[in-house]
Amino acid sequence: MGKVLIIGAGGVATVAAHKIAQNADVFTDIMIASRTKAKCDRLAAAVERATGFKGIKTAQVDADEVQQLVELLSSYKPDIVVNLALPYQDLTIMEACLQTGCNYLDTANYEPKDEAHFEYSWQWAYRERFEKAGLTAILGCGFDPGVTSIFTAYAAKHHFKEIQYLDIVDCNAGDHHKAFATNFNPEINIREITQKGLYWENGKWVETEPLEIHKDLTYPEIGPRDSYLLHHEEIESLVINYPTIKRARFWMTFGQQYLKHLEVIQNIGMSRIDEIEYEAPLADPSTCQLVNSSTVKVKIVPLQFLKAVLPNPQDLGENYEGQTSIGCRIRGIGNDGKEHTYYVYNNCSHRAAYEETGMQGVSYTTGVPAMIGAMMFLTGKWVKPGVHNVEEFDPDPFMEQLNSQGLPWHELHDVDLEL
Ligand code: NDP
Repeated sequence: MGKVLIIGAGGVATVAAHKIAQNADVFTDIMIASRTKAKCDRLAAAVERATGFKGIKTAQVDADEVQQLVELLSSYKPDIVVNLALPYQDLTIMEACLQTGCNYLDTANYEPKDEAHFEYSWQWAYRERFEKAGLTAILGCGFDPGVTSIFTAYAAKHHFKEIQYLDIVDCNAGDHHKAFATNFNPEINIREITQKGLYWENGKWVETEPLEIHKDLTYPEIGPRDSYLLHHEEIESLVINYPTIKRARFWMTFGQQYLKHLEVIQNIGMSRIDEIEYEAPLADPSTCQLVNSSTVKVKIVPLQFLKAVLPNPQDLGENYEGQTSIGCRIRGIGNDGKEHTYYVYNNCSHRAAYEETGMQGVSYTTGVPAMIGAMMFLTGKWVKPGVHNVEEFDPDPFMEQLNSQGLPWHELHDVDLEL
């Protein structure tokens, strides 16, 4: 018996809800709760139609409000809360889980709304409270972070005595036929990409200008793609959990068209996350009709406004062609005492993801691992009171599920890593 509460009803939640319902032997009760209940109702109906699962419950909740969450969690009493809202809500949801005795899982680390900055310290600060309460919190269980950290744990467990060089490589070779769109929440995505780059080398962090370092990397079944060094959250925990790592970096591909749009967005101030004053036409709230030519001064955040006019990532799936390829390229000392290289990766087809869940590959590669993480907890394989990053658990049962839940992985030994 496994009772799960999914918070959020966006692209990733849509995939996770489908996969959770497909595994009804583990997940017996499902509730989807989010800010807009109508979206939860539509998602629940679509999942029931696609999977035959019956009785998915829905609820409205503002996950910025601990009290609202506490009321929902106390009445539904889930075994685990799968947080697929935005990184801004991580701490309020963790707090509510502690107050109501629920276990917790998410796919992205906490980020304050008013500062484009993410790090684990805010969530790691909850370790003692979760441990004392006998509750498990699983952090970063999407693809990256998530599967990439589990790939690293698997390499450490089976192939290496000492991991010395780790490069996480994320390629989206898909084409959605839009001039510009992001593959997950545009606000979170643009905040991430426009930050300074950061990587770990010889015991310290090295900062770069945004997208300063890039090189062509060759991806399986795809070919060479220009790949940019970014700061990415899983590096922070991996260099702590694998202290033999001398250098750890994260690379992501971007096309020239995407980068051109991003540059313009930044140059014209549309990526700003501070409030600006905007003179808006005044409407009568009861009729929504404009009142003469009157105006009212309102505060808006340019990046949030941009999100409202960009294509919704959830609508990209229908015409999305191509695939993603995400993996880890590792060099270190193997179990035989000699130097070895290792490349472990998954390729995911946007079309196959869409046909199964109605969402594109980026939502799919995040939602499937979120489901598997919750499954690991409910089947007793990943139960460890405290707050943990995914590489702290046994990778084997998770890796096995990846193969049967739609994200098969492949290994290459002693190949040229290009890095
Ligand atoms: P979406 O924007 O599509 O969905 C977010 C959902 O959260 C929406 O349903 C939204 O509600 C809901 N929400 C937002 N604020 C609140 C709130 N205060 N209370 C309740 N619900 C709220 O995002 P995605 O599905 O693309 O991404 C979901 C998460 O997955 C993000 O945290 C993202 O960073 C993470 N992610 C992780 C990846 C990984 O590999 N680890 C990769 C891609 C994404 P509404 O519809 O009303 O706005």
